[in-house]
Amino acid sequence: MSDYKDKYEMVIGLEVHAQLKTNTKIFAREGCEFGRDPNTETSTVTLGMPGVLPVLNKECVNMAILTGLALHSEIPNRCKFDRKQYFYPDLPKGYQISQYDEPICQGGWIQISNKKIGITRAHLEEDAGKLVHAGAAGLYGSSYSLVDLNRAGTPLLEIVSEPDMRSSEEAREYVENLRSILRYIGVCDGNLEEGSMRADCNISIRPIGQKEFGTRAEIKNVNSFRSLVRAIEYEFVRQAEILEEGGKVVQETRLWDDNAGITSSMRGKEDAHDYRYFPEPDLMPLEISREWVEEIRAKMPELPNEKMERYMSKGLSEYDASVLVAQMDMAMYFDELLKQDVDAKTASNFLMGEVAAFLKEEKLTIAESKLTVENFAKLLGLLKKGTISNNIAKALIVDILNTGKDAQVLVEEKGLSVISDESSILPIIQKIVASNPEQVAAYKGGKDKLFGFFVGQAMKETKGRANPQMLNKLLKEELDK
Ligand code: ADP
Ligand code: MG
Repeated sequence: MSDYKDKYEMVIGLEVHAQLKTNTKIFAREGCEFGRDPNTETSTVTLGMPGVLPVLNKECVNMAILTGLALHSEIPNRCKFDRKQYFYPDLPKGYQISQYDEPICQGGWIQISNKKIGITRAHLEEDAGKLVHAGAAGLYGSSYSLVDLNRAGTPLLEIVSEPDMRSSEEAREYVENLRSILRYIGVCDGNLEEGSMRADCNISIRPIGQKEFGTRAEIKNVNSFRSLVRAIEYEFVRQAEILEEGGKVVQETRLWDDNAGITSSMRGKEDAHDYRYFPEPDLMPLEISREWVEEIRAKMPELPNEKMERYMSKGLSEYDASVLVAQMDMAMYFDELLKQDVDAKTASNFLMGEVAAFLKEEKLTIAESKLTVENFAKLLGLLKKGTISNNIAKALIVDILNTGKDAQVLVEEKGLSVISDESSILPIIQKIVASNPEQVAAYKGGKDKLFGFFVGQAMKETKGRANPQMLNKLLKEELDK
């Protein structure tokens, strides 16, 4: 299949719909929380009653500006809303309020590992309701559809990329990085499976070396990273086969079927004029002052790439930093830990090693676990001071994860502190030397490697608690006598 890759190149542009995490809808005051009973979150505005007026939710604008700034977009002084006409049973008004030619964000880019992906624009719009297909299938049988309008009017920010991606991997990375940014700035929870982030994927192919783009298909219904990659790879081969047979790719909207692993034609692609866009008469154009933009810029939290750089400057490898940043709850926890003046590298080793393994096994998040930041910092403090050894610290952290017990108390209760006084270690060494005369003779005869044998015996005797430097020193003195 992959043989087409040395003949054709794919070109991908993505339209990502991010559901903004507001308390209320974009033009109405009821809530928009996921999972409520059907049609309990509606109002006359959402139902499209005649004579009612939309009122713009300021929080949506704040979030759109924040996103624009994070994506290096320009926020024009003015934007406006437009009507996009549709007929859908889950769209009672018969139109969607969107932004057509004056969006709230213009231009920008997102960094992926090998290049920058351009952002064309980002605009605010309202979501439609949901059709729930029920009953048995059959032309005039008992199949029917139900309409749930809870989602209608939920605020969306549609982020449109330039056709800058050239592989499914680049597309995946773009969506991952975008999602990470949206999560870190707190505007969207980025849950593809629940639909709070949805990606429409435009893909075309062209013979390698050709400048002009080919005709694109738009693929909808891609709701996981895995299906994004699969849908793109499928579509690449489908289009390549058409061209190979001398055919032409038609511009259309196609639906990804995750079970079958194929895309199929849904409808011919509308052009903008089909929607009869016109300026929304019920909403004034929106003037955005520079003061407003600056006010929001001042609240910009640390972005994922900045966080990564900060972690690396504290001694973490690029890989470790990226793993932590990819899990926002871990990164937030790590930041709290760093405030306690712990060694960053040691803390991240424990977090990504023993702690991550435990959480995975128990299916817990770090916030749900019994390991408080203070207790973790205490444990790392005991390790730093040399009170406990690294191996003991590793065992203890699992203990704490299970019980939530205080690190200091556990060390005392179990007698785990490192033995660092000569008067305790020396008798143990003398005993070992006395009871192994053959090994002592061999060592003295030149078998240096046997030193490790004596160390091992002493560690066994002290259950790993002997201070290693002191043990080495005393053992050497004793053997050299
Ligand atoms: P529409 O609003 O009709 O979907 P746009 O011109 O806004 O059309 O483009 C939508 C998306 O399609 C953008 O992300 C853009 O980058 C992408 N795109 C445009 N032309 C192509 C092409 N030939 N191949 C792949 N992607 C494309
Ligand atoms: Mg489109």
